[in-house]
Amino acid sequence: MTRDPLRIWFDDVARRIGFADSDEFARAFELKPFRLKQIYRAAAKELCADVGEVTTLPKELRAELQSRGFSFSSVTPVVLQRSNDGQTTKGLFKLRDGNEVEAVLMEHYGDRTTVCISSQAGCAFACAFCSTGQAGFTRNLDATEIFDQARFFARELATRNKRITNIVFMGMGEPFHNYEAVMNGVALLHDPHGLGLGHRHITISTVGLVDKIDRFADEGLQVNLAISLHAPSDRVRGAIMPVNRKFDMGELMAAVERYVEKTNRKVFFEYVMLEGINDDETCANELAALMRGRLYHVNLIPYNSTPDGPFQGTADARIWAFAAVLDKAGVPTTVRKNMGRDISAACGQLRAETQPKAHASAK
Ligand code: SAH
Repeated sequence: MTRDPLRIWFDDVARRIGFADSDEFARAFELKPFRLKQIYRAAAKELCADVGEVTTLPKELRAELQSRGFSFSSVTPVVLQRSNDGQTTKGLFKLRDGNEVEAVLMEHYGDRTTVCISSQAGCAFACAFCSTGQAGFTRNLDATEIFDQARFFARELATRNKRITNIVFMGMGEPFHNYEAVMNGVALLHDPHGLGLGHRHITISTVGLVDKIDRFADEGLQVNLAISLHAPSDRVRGAIMPVNRKFDMGELMAAVERYVEKTNRKVFFEYVMLEGINDDETCANELAALMRGRLYHVNLIPYNSTPDGPFQGTADARIWAFAAVLDKAGVPTTVRKNMGRDISAACGQLRAETQPKAHASAK
């Protein structure tokens, strides 16, 4: 299925102000295709703050659009926190209906700028260690609400002559539980007439929805897939991730194998290190056996403890010992760097999903 970014964008923007879709919107303001392109480009590529800034549009049109509530952005920052080292900026954004989502910008000493974005307000999957999961599900975001989190940071970066290089869907929500909007959001992020992010620079992280992994394999996109595994067995996974009751590890790993077979793309496995839960040597050996000899990469994530949660993060030395077991088995493994620790207290979810700085492997 082809996804037309311009239509996706106008459909959402039009709906926000009470039109059925982009066609009805275009008719109401008598906008010809070239005008639609001009407006879309101003928002998505030129990153104008709002339509009032687009001086190539007739003044009356700008005024008319504004008087109807037309706006380039669906998200408004309510809190922005920067870490002491200046590398991580966390944003809390208000949506038009008052719901709030978080997104995080991570700058890695200039070599990469990754934005971690949310796909839902809340989350329905209730992973025991995740504060978003514990808070429950509110609603899906639409494609532009997803895109606008990136647009916000792209605008901020542009003032410093920088740009986004990577996007990860590792904020609030389960991307595959909001499949269509996320794929449409990817189309917006990718559009060369907009931010122009390469598919290989976009990563979707899932709790492990088997039917959607199959569907994603059929999209034929080069977008990266990450699986939140967090355990090497049904026993351990079942205790911390309720989704495991719906899709057990056998089903999950079979779906991942089908994906690899179809796409020949490497799959990333996220494994958050929880003290006394999933971090002993038995777990490491079981995980190594599961991962060995396949097109898989394991990311070990230091846990960001949440204020009222019962979980503690595994100590660094134990994380490295765990990594060494995987490494010895020849499993490509990265220990994630924990960024913005000083500002992450308020947020159990949006955090160190970032670049492989510290390689466990000695290769
Ligand atoms: N629902 C998707 C994406 C959102 S969570 C998923 O499950 O993959 C992104 C990643 O952050 C997941 O691997 C999640 O398990 C992890 N995570 C959640 N809370 C965390 C915390 N407090 N510390 C470290 N990682 C966490």
